[in-house]
Amino acid sequence: MTDASDSSSDPNAAELIVSLCRQFYALGWVSGTGGGVSVRQDGRIWVAPSGVQKERMAAEDIFALDEEGRVLRGPTRDGLRLSACLPLFLNAYRLRQAGAVIHSHGMHAMLVTLVFGHVFRVTHLEMMKGVTGLGYHDELVVPIIDNTAQECDLADAMADAMRAHPKAHAVLVRRHGVYVWGRDWISAKTHAECYHYLFEAAVRMVALGLDPAAIPASSEGAARRHEVRDETGRSAT
Ligand SMILES: [Zn+2]
Repeated sequence: MTDASDSSSDPNAAELIVSLCRQFYALGWVSGTGGGVSVRQDGRIWVAPSGVQKERMAAEDIFALDEEGRVLRGPTRDGLRLSACLPLFLNAYRLRQAGAVIHSHGMHAMLVTLVFGHVFRVTHLEMMKGVTGLGYHDELVVPIIDNTAQECDLADAMADAMRAHPKAHAVLVRRHGVYVWGRDWISAKTHAECYHYLFEAAVRMVALGLDPAAIPASSEGAARRHEVRDETGRSAT
C-alpha cells in the first residue's frame, strides 16, 4: 500500500489537511471524530482517515488515492481506516471538478436542515457574495438530502441533488451536516465559511420570525411610507 516514490509535493497536501482539520475542529465542524477534509493535488486525492480525532492527526495519517479512488499510500500508523466519506468526496471531484471538499458536522449546518424542506434558500445577505457566482440580489440555494444509516449510502442522493442544482457548491444532509467544495482548497474553505455563516443567519432569522428567503422592503420604500404617514396622519401599507 505504501508508495515510496511519492513526489516532493505530496506532503504539502497531507500537511494542509492536518492544518485545516485543526482549524475546523476549533469551529466545531469536525468534532467527535466526525466530518472530514479532502484535497486534490497533482492528480492525487488526499483524504483524512475515518474515526480519528481530527485535531490530533499527523501528515503521515493521511491517505493518498488516485483519481479513481484507489489507495496509493496509506497511513504509517496502524488501525486507520479510509474515510466513509470517500464516495461523497468523489462526487464533488467527478461532477464539479472540485479541488477540495469539506464535510462539516457544524451545529447550524445540521439545525438548518430541520427548518427547511428539500432546499435551503436565502437572499439579500452580504455573505452570499463569498460563494462563487452569486451576488447580493441573487437567491442562494443548497439542496437537502435525507440522512442514511451508513454515510456511503448518501452518494447517489448527493449526486442526484448536485445534478438538479448545478449552481450549488454544497449539499446539506438532514440531521447530519453539509458537504462543501470549491475549485481549490481556498475556494472550498471560503465557501464553507460563507455557507456556515448563512446557515446560522437563517436559523436565527427564523427564530426571530423573519423569512430568510424573502426579498426585503427597500430602505427607500420604508422612508416613503414614513413620508406618507407624516402627511396624512395614517400609516401607508
Ligand atoms: Zn458525516
